[in-house]
Amino acid sequence: MNSEKKKLKIPLPSVPPDLIAIVCVITSVLLFVTGYYVPVAAELKTFVFACCVVLTSYDVIIDTVTKGIKERAFNENLLVIIAAVIAFLIGKSAEGAAVMIIFSAGKVAHRKYVERSAKVIENLIDLRPEVVNAVINGAIVQMSPGKIKAGDTISVSPGELVSLDGVVINGQSDIYASCLEGEAMRVTVTEGSEVRSGSVNLTGVLNIRVTADFDHSTISRILKIVENAVTQKSVAEKMIRRFARLFAPAAVAAALIIGVAVPLLAGLSMSVWLSRALGFLAVFNPAGLIAATALTYFACIGGAALKGILFKSANVVDNVANTTSVIFDKTGTLTDGKYEIIDINAYGIPDKRLLMLAAYAELNSNHPIARSIVAAASAMPDFTRVSDYREFAGKGAEVEIDGNVVSAGNALFLTELGITPDISQSEASVVYIAVNGKYAGRILLSDAVKPDAKKAVKDLHAMGIDRIAVFTGETKEVAAAVATQLDIKEFYAECLPGDKITRLKGLLEMQLAGDKLLFVGDGLDDAQVLQMADAGVTIGGFHSDEAILSADMLVMTDEPSKIASAITLARYANKISRQNIMLFFGVKGLILLLMLLGIATLWVAVLADACLTMLAVVNAMRAYGLTNKEIRQFLPKKKKEEVDMASE
Ligand code: ADP
Ligand code: MG
Repeated sequence: MNSEKKKLKIPLPSVPPDLIAIVCVITSVLLFVTGYYVPVAAELKTFVFACCVVLTSYDVIIDTVTKGIKERAFNENLLVIIAAVIAFLIGKSAEGAAVMIIFSAGKVAHRKYVERSAKVIENLIDLRPEVVNAVINGAIVQMSPGKIKAGDTISVSPGELVSLDGVVINGQSDIYASCLEGEAMRVTVTEGSEVRSGSVNLTGVLNIRVTADFDHSTISRILKIVENAVTQKSVAEKMIRRFARLFAPAAVAAALIIGVAVPLLAGLSMSVWLSRALGFLAVFNPAGLIAATALTYFACIGGAALKGILFKSANVVDNVANTTSVIFDKTGTLTDGKYEIIDINAYGIPDKRLLMLAAYAELNSNHPIARSIVAAASAMPDFTRVSDYREFAGKGAEVEIDGNVVSAGNALFLTELGITPDISQSEASVVYIAVNGKYAGRILLSDAVKPDAKKAVKDLHAMGIDRIAVFTGETKEVAAAVATQLDIKEFYAECLPGDKITRLKGLLEMQLAGDKLLFVGDGLDDAQVLQMADAGVTIGGFHSDEAILSADMLVMTDEPSKIASAITLARYANKISRQNIMLFFGVKGLILLLMLLGIATLWVAVLADACLTMLAVVNAMRAYGLTNKEIRQFLPKKKKEEVDMASE
């Protein structure tokens, strides 16, 4: 079978295969215990400990050679090896071996955690479309999804995964919008409905005209976002790494001074001071903190993805965590954008005719108001009759039909055309229509606030977000009505697309240092605003290419309340990362002090480093925002499924 597996592969740090590392660590622990407790000659003991070092160090050495050369700097691995070598030189071979064993055990544990996190994310997005049924000249041909192009037709049977984005051209069915949306949503689709890849077809056979090839389908784009997100380092991690890179050579130099120069110059015991120097190196080992910080953001991004929130990078997590202002676009973000006609006031022509004229004017517009008017028209407008179509962003549209010019848009639009509409003061959205420059009437529409929007605002208030505001191109009356319904104090109405940019600039300038502004839109015509905001977020529905490029975070459901969830998750990760940094600096600082005073020994430093790393890594795992049981649910159960499939 021609199969195209598109599976997410989270890149893992280059550590040798698990099993070998685990076997080496266990063997060396056994050797170490034997060497330590069995009374044999000192030379033999040293030999046994040396074996431990060799067993545990091969991956550290590989790492040092590859990374050390690549990063052209000292790193944490080198510190450990130097520490072990010094230990052997001063006859403290047991300590040297212990340092190495603890270090590599920590690495194995860390790798296990990272692997587990990667599996969770991989499994979440384990939508491996292998073949699709292409309809070619009426016959069904099995093809790899990569071979299908936009415009081709595919057939999807009940129970199958929809592997490419498209529009239903034939059939009716219920589908589960995929787990990419957090919780699966059951929706009915029929001719003309858009279907996203990653959905599962449930009840009927669907023929779908593909609108994007596989690389541009929703599945592939989302895989790419998550893949990229988890490989990017957070600000915290970058800072610690830079710190480590600067400090490793300094620590080695300091250790040499403490261990060699001081005893030589002051005539003190070399072995006492060398062992202090060793402890000093153990204290400066930043490996645990780096690992824990990376893991914190990794877990946060993975956990959020499970909830249908896609952070594009660890940086975005930080920005979202520090959000103090949330600005919502109105249409399609707080409201559903599905406008219903509530009244038609036509002048001198029947209402139906006015609606039909408006539908012609709006035929080519993607504005939610336009789509709703076209949908509401009694008959399907005839494309062939219209010509000379023009759209005026944030205002309206104009078209020529059978030699007549029909204009439809807001009051500003008609006024600019020199027409005086009878302005409605109502809370409805109004489209004014003119034919050949003469006012012809108005259509009043309204769209509903999303069921989840109230909770969204309430949650944001509860978490102490100072500023919550609405941007809209609609009238003050409409904006005020929505704001009141949702308990939002601040709104900016009648914004032309350019106004939104200027407004946002103003708000950004007013912010205090460190405060972040989050803008939420539906990704239609707001790319610039999304880019300008500290964190640009798009929610719901189909994310356009433009939105995916310009947004920093994507919410896969239609729920504005996911913004509050995202802030909570990000703050949590941020807090955990800070806790770990404080923990490391606090405890290590204390040990350093105790060591300088001669109270703490090398053993204390080594053990403390191991314990701290464990603590920090376990702490990092909390950033998932999931319980262990929930995490387990997302771990692969593939073995069983494969057995099931084979037995079918
Ligand atoms: P928003 O998304 O905030 O509503 P837009 O800039 O998309 O803002 O639109 C602003 C206003 O311009 C709309 O509320 C509507 O009144 C009017 N408008 C824009 N495009 C059209 C159109 N194609 N038909 C009718 N009115 C339109
Ligand atoms: Mg808009």
